[in-house]
Amino acid sequence: MSTQTYQRKYDVIVIGGGVLGAFHAYFAMQRGWKTLLIERDIFPQQASVRNFGLIIPSAMPPGIWRDRALASSEIYEELTRQLGIPLRQAGTQYLAHTEAEADFLKQLADTQQDTLCPAKFLNAEETIRSSCCLNPEFCTGSLFFPQDLQLDPGQFFRELINWIACTSDCDYLPKTTAVSVRERSSHCQVKIADGRTFDAQQVIVCSGADLQTLFPEAYIERNVQYCKLQMLKISNPENRTLGTSIASPIALTRYPAFLNAQFLQGINLAGPEPTLQEHGIQIWMTQNQDNEFILGDSHAYSVDPPPERMSAEVEELIINYARKMFVKLDFQVTDRWCGIYTEEKSAGLFHKQQGERIQLLTGIGGKGMTTGPGLAKENIGQLSL
Ligand SMILES: Cc1cc2nc3c(=O)[nH]c(=O)nc-3n(C[C@H](O)[C@H](O)[C@H](O)COP(=O)(O)OP(=O)(O)OC[C@H]3O[C@@H](n4cnc5c(N)ncnc54)[C@H](O)[C@@H]3O)c2cc1C
Repeated sequence: MSTQTYQRKYDVIVIGGGVLGAFHAYFAMQRGWKTLLIERDIFPQQASVRNFGLIIPSAMPPGIWRDRALASSEIYEELTRQLGIPLRQAGTQYLAHTEAEADFLKQLADTQQDTLCPAKFLNAEETIRSSCCLNPEFCTGSLFFPQDLQLDPGQFFRELINWIACTSDCDYLPKTTAVSVRERSSHCQVKIADGRTFDAQQVIVCSGADLQTLFPEAYIERNVQYCKLQMLKISNPENRTLGTSIASPIALTRYPAFLNAQFLQGINLAGPEPTLQEHGIQIWMTQNQDNEFILGDSHAYSVDPPPERMSAEVEELIINYARKMFVKLDFQVTDRWCGIYTEEKSAGLFHKQQGERIQLLTGIGGKGMTTGPGLAKENIGQLSL
């Protein structure tokens, strides 16, 4: 990794090594531009490595975000092959609990013949047979998307960043906070915390949930909110295999793909009970490479940066709902963490041109892993130096 010597001048400097920043740096170096990626931690430690690692075009409504999700899937497939790290095509399964939910999913499978994002309706019996631990009393059917992907995000970003920094025209400057970015007449100057400066033609700021260090005023006037999510790891003493990633029926009343479809079918499914709604609880159960179960999540929205403190009540609500969906699991919590992302409430992305040479990108919400690479490719493709 080129952490020793750095030039003073670059074509592009990217600040923030999460999914948005890492992929902007990757595509900038692919265009042959001398690139510097600056990250506060040794490797990214925030939302991009605290998530489920789900790459799920199935959750995106047809249109620009679905296209970005499909483009991202191709990018991950190519990169994981090159890097030699696992990418699981485990698929995702959205469960139905009520008969109305099962009818809706069946109708969706019948009408939505999307060859790029195929889906199959499974009846109650088929659903139960498809996984180790689903509760027959809970499931009335499911919609299965076989092409959805999953990876270990911590491993992926470590390997990707090492690889681009070692083998390409991209330098990586870890453990470094960028404290200011100034536009001059012919270039931009980035200052880091130890006082050193670096120049570039273009600077791209992908600072995730840190809206306070660089250009805090730019975010105030816009529709950006924070969202804190709680996650759990639960043990798997009997080494059971889930098969696919599994979402609760709450997804059908949360995700735009399903909300749009409900609108088109002229139906309105009932949402979850008020306590779950209040904490934005939406159950996902997935499995990591070590066969441990990852269970989440909740969504607490705020206009101010939230504390990383976790709520025992929220954890209990998540576990209690998951207990209805699954049998044969012991629900022993072996780890817990929270993650924070920002969300732009109207466009689903905060993307601002700050002067001629600086771009700010954040606010991608809960779809950053699924759509970030495709978005970065598109954005760098439109950039000229
Ligand atoms: C618990 C959880 C589960 C999720 N699950 C999924 C999922 O399964 N699928 C999916 O598609 N999405 C998921 N998401 C959403 C996804 O993780 C986010 O959309 C995405 O990670 C946001 O990426 P980012 O690059 O904008 O921000 P971040 O990942 O927060 O990265 C920003 C980076 O910038 C660095 N930084 C900030 N300021 C500076 C500075 N001044 N100088 C240097 N470095 C700086 C930070 O250290 C950080 O590494 C989940 C999110 C969470 C929290």
